[in-house]
Amino acid sequence: SEQSGHYNFAAGPAMLPTDVLAQIREEIQDWRGSGLSILEQPFTSSAFKQLMAETDADLRALLEIPSNYRVLFMQGGASAQFGLLPLNLLRPGQGADYLESGHWARKAIAEGRRHAPVNVIASGADQDFTALPSPAHWRLDPLAGYCHITSNETANGLQLQEFPALPVPLVVDMTSDFLTRPVPVERFGVIYASTQKNLGAAGLCVVIVRDDLLQAPPAGLPAAFSYAVQAEQQSRFNTPPTFTLYVAALMLRWIKQRGGAETMATAARQRSALLYRYIDGSDLYHCPQKIQDRSSINVCFQLADAGLTEIFLDQAELCDLTHLRGHAAFGGVRASLYNAMPVSGVQQLVDFMADFEQRHG
Ligand code: PLP
Repeated sequence: SEQSGHYNFAAGPAMLPTDVLAQIREEIQDWRGSGLSILEQPFTSSAFKQLMAETDADLRALLEIPSNYRVLFMQGGASAQFGLLPLNLLRPGQGADYLESGHWARKAIAEGRRHAPVNVIASGADQDFTALPSPAHWRLDPLAGYCHITSNETANGLQLQEFPALPVPLVVDMTSDFLTRPVPVERFGVIYASTQKNLGAAGLCVVIVRDDLLQAPPAGLPAAFSYAVQAEQQSRFNTPPTFTLYVAALMLRWIKQRGGAETMATAARQRSALLYRYIDGSDLYHCPQKIQDRSSINVCFQLADAGLTEIFLDQAELCDLTHLRGHAAFGGVRASLYNAMPVSGVQQLVDFMADFEQRHG
């Protein structure tokens, strides 16, 4: 927690604010004076329906979601959405465009290909995913059912800074930077994000879908995974992940109380700038990512002597700076700085890095 000086830099599930954890502890005992734990609330009760309505309203206010969009609370995580997008959005035989920006885009492409023809509009593979292909070079198919992008590449430390207005519906995996900045929702057909990074706990995927894209579930699509069915039933076609929804509701209130998406963006820039500035000025650490494409959420870096990485990670753990190991596919170090990470956590990390550099640089 923040007070104890223990900072969790995990990519997800991630650190929660101390006050949110305290409230959860209380409401595990008694939720809203009901005499029942939050874990025991039926999803059909009026109190729980009220919680879902508040969550929908808070999300709409924080992201300025226009009224022609529906907010769905689904299970299966963003990984299930990789398959559910083509099943829900494409007509038989229709293909989709994908930007191959990094590890998670590749996962979306691989799963998408199982259901529909996929056209890769541009790829960062030839630069080892250290830079994002510029929208000027995207080879778009005007007949594509949608164009899929990944706003923040969690494993590669890359983040899209701008979202182009496209003639086909723009679909975005926003799992790792959801609600860390304002976004032009009206440019998107679908925005989806798992909640275990910036919005609390695992088990829930928020799907924001423009209502003209809702269509009757095609054969082969389970009704529980149909956008149209869940929209029609206010995400209560079946039991939603009630506890995770409750935690997301607390996180939304926490973000709102702090001033909303703009405040989160300022804090994200402040945290990541502190770390990048230190890395760029050091001889021991380096960031291979192109400066303009660097993520303000997942800061990925390497040590000049790769043999020091394990020692760095071990010593960091001893200093209560935990889960800094880079993604298995890339190695190195990754500091995930989601909404709940205070700037004091990043300062403690930078102080540790400076001390480590003195001893090993
Ligand atoms: N997309 C991105 C950008 C991610 O960072 C992750 C998880 O780290 C996922 C998708 C997968 O999310 P889930 O494990 O909830 O399916």
